[in-house]
Amino acid sequence: MKKIPVLFLCLLLAGAAQGQRFSGYSSASTARQEATERTLKSLPSPESVRQFHRYLTAEPHPAGSARNHELARYVADEWKRQGWQDVTIHRYDVYNSAPRQVTLEMVEPVRYTAGLREASYDDDPDTKNPRVSRGYLAMSASGEVTAPLVYARGGNPEDYDLLEKHGIDVRGKVVIVRYSNPYSYRGFKALTAERRGAAALLIYSDPAEDGYNKGAVFPNGPWGPETHLQRGSITYDFIVPGDPLTPGWASTEGARRIKPEDSQSVPKIMAAVMSWHDARPLLEQMDGPEAPKDWQGGLPITYRLGGGRVKVHLKVDMDNSVKPNYVVEARLPGAEVPDEWVLVGNHRDAWEFGGVDPSSGTASMLELTRALGEMAKKGTRPRRTIIACSWDGEEVGLTGSTEWGEQFAVDLARKLVAYINVDSSASGSNFQGSAVGSLAPLLVEVSRTLDDPSGTSLYEAWKTSAAADTARFAATGGSERKAAVDDESLVDTRIGSGSDHTVFLNALGRPVVGLTFDGPYGVYHSMYDDYYWINHFGDPGYRYHTLMSRLWGVLALRLANADVLPFDFGFYGRDIGTFLRELCGAADPSRAAAGVASGGCRAGELDLGPAIAAAEEFAAAGRELKQAIEAALAAGPLDQKKADALNRRIMDVETNWLSREGIPGRPWFKHMLYAARYTYAHLELPGITEAVEKQDWKTARDETAKLVSALARNTALVREAAVGLKRP
Ligand SMILES: [Zn+2]
Repeated sequence: MKKIPVLFLCLLLAGAAQGQRFSGYSSASTARQEATERTLKSLPSPESVRQFHRYLTAEPHPAGSARNHELARYVADEWKRQGWQDVTIHRYDVYNSAPRQVTLEMVEPVRYTAGLREASYDDDPDTKNPRVSRGYLAMSASGEVTAPLVYARGGNPEDYDLLEKHGIDVRGKVVIVRYSNPYSYRGFKALTAERRGAAALLIYSDPAEDGYNKGAVFPNGPWGPETHLQRGSITYDFIVPGDPLTPGWASTEGARRIKPEDSQSVPKIMAAVMSWHDARPLLEQMDGPEAPKDWQGGLPITYRLGGGRVKVHLKVDMDNSVKPNYVVEARLPGAEVPDEWVLVGNHRDAWEFGGVDPSSGTASMLELTRALGEMAKKGTRPRRTIIACSWDGEEVGLTGSTEWGEQFAVDLARKLVAYINVDSSASGSNFQGSAVGSLAPLLVEVSRTLDDPSGTSLYEAWKTSAAADTARFAATGGSERKAAVDDESLVDTRIGSGSDHTVFLNALGRPVVGLTFDGPYGVYHSMYDDYYWINHFGDPGYRYHTLMSRLWGVLALRLANADVLPFDFGFYGRDIGTFLRELCGAADPSRAAAGVASGGCRAGELDLGPAIAAAEEFAAAGRELKQAIEAALAAGPLDQKKADALNRRIMDVETNWLSREGIPGRPWFKHMLYAARYTYAHLELPGITEAVEKQDWKTARDETAKLVSALARNTALVREAAVGLKRP
């Protein structure tokens, strides 16, 4: 290769940069921002991330444990050392759940005592740590039962319906189900078992889902070995997340608390977790009808529904009581616009070592904050305030983030530009980005500026892995996603629950982004999700952890330093239109095509035409605003007052998606565009969609009317913003 003089190369690069402004930046601020981002990207180092990760994963650190409190102090001390300000440890006394004793035996037809314990391996000394817990499910009720065992596949309602058809009554019995086939959040399985009158629920990991059927198992591969236990919580946080005793308000000192028995989110059923090692002896002994073909799992046995031959004795003794959770918060005060906040956060609590979930994310966050702190020490401060939070109790019920969000709701509603959540940062190399529609284009734009360890840009690597995902999805009969992955469909704009973004999006109406790198990962919530696993399978060399620190930082800085907040309402409006169109014919799928072809869009008795028109109008107003902003920025920097007024309006758009009374039946969830199903799956236009599914046309019409007026409010707001910009 010909050697190009360095100075000439610099001029070339500077020239290229001038031609391309970042969204929301003038040419001058783009050049400044490029330099800032270059510095940020140069600071994270894999070795530093590894050291954070080793410390974080040295011991089990579940919510409410002494070790997790110690780690709160560790994070706080790091942040102080790194140069962050206002470092605060917030304490919330919340309803916590820890096991005293869980025992399970088969008493008939033969005796078998389940170990509920994970085997240790010489290769990985951490697996010998005596402080690792035996299997349990947090928030299980305490009690004792001896009863016949019934197999209910995935523990979803349709599975019980099939049992009923076979004349199998689950009332008073112990039900055993598989973790994911099809996937649903374990809390939904518990609620379903409770509603069907089962005495207790056992959830086990079948090798078909995350074990040997998938590939080599730990310690030789990334999949779950024979004894791995997928711990977890069964809290009904899909009804209301956070501390079950303070639903909708913060559990600060002296706060009003309800009784656990009055809480909607505390299960009343006993539940326990099993490995297939312990489940197999029970399943093997079962009698009754042979389970259908798609109920057969990965074990070399015939799965049966259960005719009463197998009886088990389960005893669960939980310490469910109020314990402190600690949220750590730190700030880099904005140099120019301190009252606009960009929040980055990750949960700290882990079921055991938390190699991937969440300590990979915590390590990436500490490396990100180290880089930002170092820059601040040298005088490069963000224009807007950046806040970092280390959440607690996420695994129990999204507890820490929910309580913090509820405590500072008033400020957050007004000041929070966006929340960027990273739960697990790297269990592999496939990037997955999710965002509200207005931030999706920014995420794509930013991905072009980062280098992927594979040698291409993150953007190219993302496109490749997304295309592979789509091909896999098509191969399994799916048709939901398009075959070719264009920029518009790279970002997942269908946001469910299951992590700390929930309070910010669903209760406070603030824009959110979620970032993760994933890959083959069969040890989720087991003790094998640890340092060894990351170093051998998930991310040897910590390259993706480090890329996450860079990506997270560039995105945070892009939002924090923009002249005009880079939200794209044209894209948002188009996305909302797509969600609405998906409801056409939802009540009668056979008529869907006909309805669309004739130009109408109806779901049963609901006419969605006016809502689609309103979404299109909002999208058009959004495109006009974007053009006006980019034209203004192309002409030079904006007048500060003008920019402030414009940014205020941009921030208010998300707020307008909130419905004061919340979605029907779940008043805590206030966002009209996004919510989660009880299974945690994403649920768009929750109020309308659920009403349509119930064929409750009155509610469906009311919810649609609310959305139409929100769309009209936002169209007016976005137009005002464009007019304000053009005014001399
Ligand atoms: Zn997590």
